[in-house]
Amino acid sequence: MSSTQKVALVTGGATGIGLAISQQLLSEGFTVVVNYQASQVAADAFVTSALANGHVALAVQANIGVASDVARLIETILSSFGRLDVVVNNAGITEDGLMLRMSEEQFDRVIQTNLKGVWLVCKHALKPLMQSGQGRIINIASVAGLMGNFGQSNYAAAKAGVIGMSKTIAREMASRAITVNVVAPGFIETRMTDKLSDSIKESALTMIPLKRFGQPSDIAHMVSFLASDKAQYITGQTFVVDGGMTMY
Ligand code: NAP
Repeated sequence: MSSTQKVALVTGGATGIGLAISQQLLSEGFTVVVNYQASQVAADAFVTSALANGHVALAVQANIGVASDVARLIETILSSFGRLDVVVNNAGITEDGLMLRMSEEQFDRVIQTNLKGVWLVCKHALKPLMQSGQGRIINIASVAGLMGNFGQSNYAAAKAGVIGMSKTIAREMASRAITVNVVAPGFIETRMTDKLSDSIKESALTMIPLKRFGQPSDIAHMVSFLASDKAQYITGQTFVVDGGMTMY
């Protein structure tokens, strides 16, 4: 059965920035598929609330770093709704450590989820996105991928990789009417940044001209624009949402 509503997949869509994106797209009339790895309670709560308010939503557990999980995720979306129009690659992890102390395993785990995971989801989603006729891929990177960051050689490498990969997919898929763009958040208040020390937070705040940390909704609004018809002539670009922290 094919849905008449556009279908959006948000990886890691049950918490933090991903949850704000899922809520925003739902409010705009998308059918929203929330992928999660461990946050089943949050994913189920999102779906229950969506259904209670007359929306259409589905939660699917999958580790985006595992090819068979990603294949199952996309197959579940197609068997449930018959289409996929928007993919937001939001899922990501940090495992920080200075270069001198970071283990090879820490490096590999972050690359596996934050870089290979994005590649796997894009690869498995491309065919249905082509069939959409107006497919959208929106990848969540980070300003760390543009400017580097202390203790994040793994994370910055993965996020810089996502930016280069997105430009390549944008070029390859332009003739198939799929646009591919990147949103690079600065410091956004979520559980990912909650775990940073007060001294790191204070020093980050001094670098932000708008003098506040961002909220997940600040990122969701940019994603919403890129997923909309208003953004149909934009592809291969990276949009920084960071309160002015990085200016070149
Ligand atoms: P978060 O709440 O920890 O969200 C991360 C999400 O990724 C979680 O929902 C998690 O799902 C999911 N995830 C992690 N590994 C996964 C895997 N292998 N398979 C499927 N899902 C997985 O943190 P956040 O701040 O909202 O981060 C969202 C994105 O924004 C990340 O890509 C992050 O790098 C990026 N970002 C954040 C900031 C910031 O300041 N917060 C800045 C720049 C970029 P489960 O809980 O189910 O595991």
